Amino acid sequence: MTFLGMPAIGPVPGIAPAGAPTPAESPAPSDAPAPAASPAPVDAPGGGLDLSLLYRGPLASCDYDCPYCPFAKRRDTPEQLRADRAALERFTGWVAGRAGTGDTLSLLFTPWGEGLVRSWYRRALVELSRLPHVRRVAIQTNLSCRTDWLAEADLTTLALWVTYHPGQVGHERFVAKSRELDRLGVRYSVGVVGEPDHLTAARRLRAELSPAVYLWINAAEGRTYTDAEAADWQALDPHFGYSRHAHPSAGRPCRTGESVLSVDGDGTVRRCHFVRDALGNLYDGSYRAQLRARPCPLPVCDCHIGYVHLETLPLYEVFAGGVLERVPHDRQPQREPAAREVRAS
Ligand code: SF4
Ligand code: SF4
Repeated sequence: MTFLGMPAIGPVPGIAPAGAPTPAESPAPSDAPAPAASPAPVDAPGGGLDLSLLYRGPLASCDYDCPYCPFAKRRDTPEQLRADRAALERFTGWVAGRAGTGDTLSLLFTPWGEGLVRSWYRRALVELSRLPHVRRVAIQTNLSCRTDWLAEADLTTLALWVTYHPGQVGHERFVAKSRELDRLGVRYSVGVVGEPDHLTAARRLRAELSPAVYLWINAAEGRTYTDAEAADWQALDPHFGYSRHAHPSAGRPCRTGESVLSVDGDGTVRRCHFVRDALGNLYDGSYRAQLRARPCPLPVCDCHIGYVHLETLPLYEVFAGGVLERVPHDRQPQREPAAREVRAS
């Protein structure tokens, strides 16, 4: 994964957060009880469930050395890697086993470290992308891996949530990777953490990325932005306003726990990566009886992978068809078959 580009569970510094007050011309993100984006229907057309699952196994190592990340250059032992592989294979086996049940699944891998340097993550993405009941399979990545394996995947289903870490990879090398993705026809978003010393690199990247590719900016953890500073980032990411401040979430309706779930390597199911109460286990089916609408129990939600599911925000509309991989609706190719669209996402 990639820290900032992502998952911010727990006390992990640096991930980015938040959203809110926006510069004037931005699409005003609102925390007020909003015209709820379509109520997340749980029933799939075939009579099963239509679920989005965020999977995070034990992997916690990374090939990068980002100064804001606790997983920088961390190594997993061979035993830890074997456990991660076994857990991932168990999960992918469970997903494959839902074929014919009527369930439809949208999947986002949010590893603590970098998954795509491991063969089992690449293989899982390829295999899952080919399953007809999987609408989307995506992963958060620093894109340090090679890209040739992507040609084996069903690219109408696979997507990448990519984070660019200036200082860890050269501009030219990263842009070349993005062009490989463009050439292969991979669906992806690219993001940068909104640290002041990243601004020049982010502007340079925006200038050279394909105009069709969305560049998101995550507010840096613990940082507040003046309106002038926010305007600089907003010029790169029209949706930066959603990340600028944490969203008050206590008591507000959130799709997690009903149509969106977090799954760990043991199969423990929680509503999201941030609320630790378990709803059951994926592998014994005990989670299913617990699926229902619930208000958020936490005071704020400050990470995109969480607040994107808040019903008081319009993000299922902004990112319709690309909620999990963070691709806004207006940046999506028109060629995608509707039947494989991620529900509500
Ligand atoms: S690329 Fe690696 S070191 Fe950098 S933030 Fe992501 S997980 Fe951490
Ligand atoms: S708003 Fe939703 S995703 Fe965020 S912490 Fe609350 S329950 Fe979790």
